[in-house]
Amino acid sequence: MPPPPERHSETLPPAVRVHVLGAGPVGLVVAALLQSNDRFSVHLYEKRRDYSRTRMVQLAPYLVADSIESYCTDYIDGESIAAIFEPSEISEGLAFRQSIPPDLMGLLRGWTRGFCPLNDIERSLSDLIDARETHPVQRTTAVVTAQDAMTMVQPGDVLIDCTGTKSLLRDPLVPGVGVTEGDSNTFKLRLEYALVVTFLYDQAYDCNEYCKYYKNIDNPFYKFIPAVNRTYHDGRMTHVTGIVNIRAEDYERMPSRFDGEWLRSHFPQVAQSMDRFIAKVKTETNGEIVGDLEMVRIPLDLYRARNATSLQVRRAGGEHPFVRSPVFLVGDSAMGSPYFQSISLGFECAMFLAGLLAQHDLPHTEMLARYEQFVYKQWIRVYTRTRMIKHNKDLLECVGDTFTLLEKLHVY
Ligand SMILES: Cc1cc2nc3c(=O)[nH]c(=O)nc-3n(C[C@H](O)[C@H](O)[C@H](O)COP(=O)(O)OP(=O)(O)OC[C@H]3O[C@@H](n4cnc5c(N)ncnc54)[C@H](O)[C@@H]3O)c2cc1C
Repeated sequence: MPPPPERHSETLPPAVRVHVLGAGPVGLVVAALLQSNDRFSVHLYEKRRDYSRTRMVQLAPYLVADSIESYCTDYIDGESIAAIFEPSEISEGLAFRQSIPPDLMGLLRGWTRGFCPLNDIERSLSDLIDARETHPVQRTTAVVTAQDAMTMVQPGDVLIDCTGTKSLLRDPLVPGVGVTEGDSNTFKLRLEYALVVTFLYDQAYDCNEYCKYYKNIDNPFYKFIPAVNRTYHDGRMTHVTGIVNIRAEDYERMPSRFDGEWLRSHFPQVAQSMDRFIAKVKTETNGEIVGDLEMVRIPLDLYRARNATSLQVRRAGGEHPFVRSPVFLVGDSAMGSPYFQSISLGFECAMFLAGLLAQHDLPHTEMLARYEQFVYKQWIRVYTRTRMIKHNKDLLECVGDTFTLLEKLHVY
């Protein structure tokens, strides 16, 4: 049954309440973008009291691109972008960037220059939101449930779910699915299990594919692969983040985070590979590691929400609260990808959504459909890019072993 033809539910009324669920990096960017528009009253909900995630992350330069050329310069997916997006779509995104307030754009520019701690991004955005004198964001510190979200939303309000991988509203976006049913709206591929190793190094150090190959030449297994551009020179200090592919059974036996000493005593083979790599870096650049190695073991998943909005629920009609209140998934709640891409992808979708919401005469149905299409194109982009990175990484790990290498090649 189509939704009733209520005027207020089809276009956004003058003062639109926007509920942003989750104040991780993406929820904070969404709030900061919408806050600067007079038409929105932004409510931000977060369960954490402090930002404590210190892991180093890097953002993609395309976030601050000012021309189609600079948007498409990425070595791996420049061509895919040109194939997936119309020039007019890219231009629309670039035009939106021009309207981003200078305080926020200044932060984005800084973060795209190199590594920075995740909690620095979160704290800076949070402080920026609180420091702005006009249009204060109303903040609530609480765990929100899907049921809470459905109860608090009024017809015409907008709900933006930025609650991350375990998204609060992803499942309820499938018509007829209750709030407790898991994974009915998620497509997921497990690419590998990985040990992510981070350390500080007291000399400038960079690593290209030759370096990744030669420094692993004595490592038959558990090759240590620092990601390209994963080093940020902070004076003479370098932050290094590398990935070691591990087996599923290794993953099961490891705690979620640990240090170098634990690895050396429990997984000596993995530690030897990593130590050999680091020893070569030291010989080459005459430096030392500062502090200890930090390690987390994670499954590297590539996934997306099949419905990234409430469009299907709206089309199904009935009394469901999402029929009259559009819901959007942004950030890890909409899709997730490994190899250090997700925050940028989340910010890109946040910018697109803020641009859509700013078009006050755009009917909700069209808004939802356009966001679905945009997110789907971003998915194609990140799927293609991730597959390419994984394939190249697999090949790199067997360079020198001709038969294994040939087995991984499929030509026609
Ligand atoms: C080791 C590692 C390294 C990484 N490196 C990079 C990198 O270099 N570059 C990159 O782009 N990405 C990187 N990532 C991924 C990146 O951290 C995530 O993509 C990013 O944090 C997602 O942001 P988000 O805001 O969508 O979700 P999250 O960061 O997960 O934020 C969700 C927020 O919602 C809150 N929340 C959740 N549920 C509720 C609820 N019910 N009620 C209230 N609040 C709630 C949470 O407390 C949290 O603050 C890395 C990930 C890992 C594990």
